Amino acid sequence: MAAEVFFARLKDGSTPDEQAQKTKEIFDAAGAKKCISPGDFVAIKVHVGEKNNITHIRPEIARAVVEKVKENKGLPFLTETSTLYKGERENAIKHIMHAHKHGFEIEQVGAPFIMADGLTGNTEIEVEINGELNKTVKIAREIRFADAMVIISHPTGHMLTALGACIKNLGMGLASRMGKMRQHSSMKPAIKENKCRLCGKCIEWCPENIIEKREKAAFINSEKCIGCGECLAVCRFGAVKYDFGRDSVIVQKEMAEHAYGVIIGKEGKCFFINVLVNMTKDCDCIDKSQKKIIPDVGILGSYDPVAIDKATLDLTKEANQRSLAEVSYGKLDAMHQLEHAVRIGMGTLEYTLVEI
Ligand code: SF4
Ligand code: SF4
Repeated sequence: MAAEVFFARLKDGSTPDEQAQKTKEIFDAAGAKKCISPGDFVAIKVHVGEKNNITHIRPEIARAVVEKVKENKGLPFLTETSTLYKGERENAIKHIMHAHKHGFEIEQVGAPFIMADGLTGNTEIEVEINGELNKTVKIAREIRFADAMVIISHPTGHMLTALGACIKNLGMGLASRMGKMRQHSSMKPAIKENKCRLCGKCIEWCPENIIEKREKAAFINSEKCIGCGECLAVCRFGAVKYDFGRDSVIVQKEMAEHAYGVIIGKEGKCFFINVLVNMTKDCDCIDKSQKKIIPDVGILGSYDPVAIDKATLDLTKEANQRSLAEVSYGKLDAMHQLEHAVRIGMGTLEYTLVEI
């Protein structure tokens, strides 16, 4: 059955207040209040943009959703997870301080910012999905305890996955550190001799007991490594290196499976919003200001995370002859993540566009 994707058009260069107003209209037109029961903890997933990023979603949009949740007597909080890479969002303290700098503070938005994966990204829960690549996936723990979710995504291109939109915001954005590593890497970690301080933490935590203490540094017997990523998570000296070289198809499939781990069991309690403005070649994790590469389109809302990303590709193509993904990384194919998401039961590519 086709999903409904609600669409509010915006002129190119709309103001944050206009974007927020359309977001509210989408929320109402879709009847998204039905996802929220009085007293529900409602997680509102945002991406506040890395340092120097100026094209991330505006706090006005988050505030619009917070107001809608409160109207329906839910208890909203903004949420995010720590990044794998070093930057302003690598742990809870830096991330929250940085979110405040970008305007996502309680006075402006009306809700607290709560990290879903704890202080350092290791607070997680294993969720059974029985996917093609994973029987279980590791998801930021607090998101599983939220009663309802509104996922606000800012579609961009992406160097590994061609498109970073709703599926990526769920899969990469709400996986725990180990969940992210699972997606990102073929995970055959090795230890850099010059950085290892022989503290022994990785040896203590490796579930396979395959790390040994050698004279100058710890050493991993990589043949027996299961790729769990624990050594990377516990090393505080940046001594564990790993390979980001998995190909785009595998990364996209992994991402879809982790996205499924976020929403599985929350049927009827999730609403997805894609903000098709200020769309750039690379994602909002990049520490630089980027120029938008296609004109603004508008705001989308749906109960289906696959259909909303398909509509994102279609509408950007309609406006620009080539989709956001094709303009950004034409050699990659963003359909892998969508098609895999359909295969594992997350949603559908068939949709009806309801323009409001
Ligand atoms: S945790 Fe890091 S510093 Fe400590 S022994 Fe392992 S690799 Fe070396
Ligand atoms: S990834 Fe896991 S199994 Fe492999 S060395 Fe690190 S802790 Fe051990």
